[in-house]
Amino acid sequence: MKFDYDLFVIGGGSGGVRSARLAAGLGVRTAIAEEYRFGGTCVIRGCVPKKLFVYASEFGHAIDDARAYGWTVGEKRFDWKTLVANKDAEIERLSKLYSNGVEKAGGTVIRDRAEVVGPHEVRLVREDRTLSAERILIATGGHPFIPEIPGREHAITSNEAFHLEALPEKIVIVGAGYIAVEFACIFRGLGVEVELMYRGAEVLRGFDHDLRHGLAEIMRGQGIEITYNTEPAAIEKSGGRLAIMTTQGTSVTCGAVMFATGRQPNTEGLGLQKLGVECGWNGRIAVDDWYRSSVPSIHAVGDVTDRVNLTPVAIRDGVAFIEANYKNNPMPVDLAYLPTAVFSQPEIGTVGYTEEQAREMFRSVDIYKSSFRPMKNTLSGRPERTFMKLVVDAETDKVVGAHILGPDAAEMAQVLAISLKLGARKADFDATIALHPTAAEELVTMREKWQPPSAGGQ
Ligand code: FAD
Ligand code: NDP
Repeated sequence: MKFDYDLFVIGGGSGGVRSARLAAGLGVRTAIAEEYRFGGTCVIRGCVPKKLFVYASEFGHAIDDARAYGWTVGEKRFDWKTLVANKDAEIERLSKLYSNGVEKAGGTVIRDRAEVVGPHEVRLVREDRTLSAERILIATGGHPFIPEIPGREHAITSNEAFHLEALPEKIVIVGAGYIAVEFACIFRGLGVEVELMYRGAEVLRGFDHDLRHGLAEIMRGQGIEITYNTEPAAIEKSGGRLAIMTTQGTSVTCGAVMFATGRQPNTEGLGLQKLGVECGWNGRIAVDDWYRSSVPSIHAVGDVTDRVNLTPVAIRDGVAFIEANYKNNPMPVDLAYLPTAVFSQPEIGTVGYTEEQAREMFRSVDIYKSSFRPMKNTLSGRPERTFMKLVVDAETDKVVGAHILGPDAAEMAQVLAISLKLGARKADFDATIALHPTAAEELVTMREKWQPPSAGGQ
């Protein structure tokens, strides 16, 4: 045979493992190399351990609330080491499932770093041998980016946050995107003093403005300090404490600084430049509908292509790569009405156009809003309110955006995404009978169009 393998996948994360497993299942001679741990970012230091930490953090609030429901709760104590150990055991279990899945399908699993040394050649770094493949699939994901400031080596990222020796008394989290907001809430719920330091004027750029504002208010109410229009200029370490000098000329002292300032594709040192694989300014690999790079035998899926960096998208990329290249069925991933969530406390769940985007996109837009105290918060006295917004294209009556801030918002967004993808109209929402008592029933009972205050509305 001309090549050692038909397909060589580099990277054992969400996109790589799905591609390798499907390919091997089709009888394609497949190998997959992973330099760290199978499962990739999502399983090892992303979605899964993050969500386990969110649950841990939420118990902190739930224990307080339980008292109003008649429970007598003893001394509230939390042991970080127990959480980390139990989380690690679950991650180990999942990681094994990922590599086993490929092997069961007939693929070869390689635990080594792989680099591309030719259009059809891959070099295994530790084993120091070269293998050939008809196609190479790059699914190497991304890594956290930390701005170049003096003392950046004293800072951590989400990677290290999953394995801190102990919780700091105070943490400063830099950034206000998904990771910054999620970890601010996680740490606060676990009893840490938290300051969120952001260069902009409102958290979660790109999300609907009402959700951004509403969540920031709730976070503040929970004791999270949010400092806007500020960035760290330098970090100094002395006696186990860190001092952050800011661009505003202020100084903050804390036990840990975490940068959550975005991620960059893992392409450095992969050998792509030498081969002429076209990459973007941050190293992202540009691909066509067949997931082909500018070198036809080299393909890429997932975060390394830096389009929408979410697990389900990396997985869909993997499926589409297989369909296009091994089933002659190109089917580019349709990202319209992609639901997404921020696992803040409470959550954000969203699908479709924000109000701002819709006003630019459509000639006329109707907005429906609802804000209410979830029933669970009544007895407990928790002041946090749930907020919901529907964005409707007034010409077609189609619901083009749904945005929720409140408990279970992520679960609602997943289900709403089906309706929006099917083109549901506001009239369809209205015709749907409510399920009582739920928060989601509000989605089908909003009747009054929201009027901006200047137009005489609320
Ligand atoms: P990855 O999962 O990153 O996998 C790439 C793999 O390639 C890694 O295992 C890496 O070790 C390996 N690798 C790299 N270079 C080489 C090489 N040269 N040789 C061999 N192996 C190599 N998404 C969601 O949808 N929901 C969430 O709630 C969510 N939470 C997140 C929380 C955090 C803290 C982070 C950081 C991310 C989160 N994400 C979430 C994003 C999600 O994790 C990624 O979009 C997803 O993992 C991308 O999958 P991938 O296969 O492209 O890359
Ligand atoms: P995001 O892109 O979401 O947020 C990055 C934040 O860092 C923004 O607030 C950004 O500000 C700020 N920032 C960027 N560069 C700098 C800089 N040089 N100096 C100071 N601040 C800076 O990235 P994250 O790191 O939070 O997460 C990475 C990706 O992982 C997400 O985009 C998402 O795709 C995925 N993810 C998904 C999750 C989920 O689905 N729940 C959870 C966690 C991660 P500005 O807005 O002004 O640019």
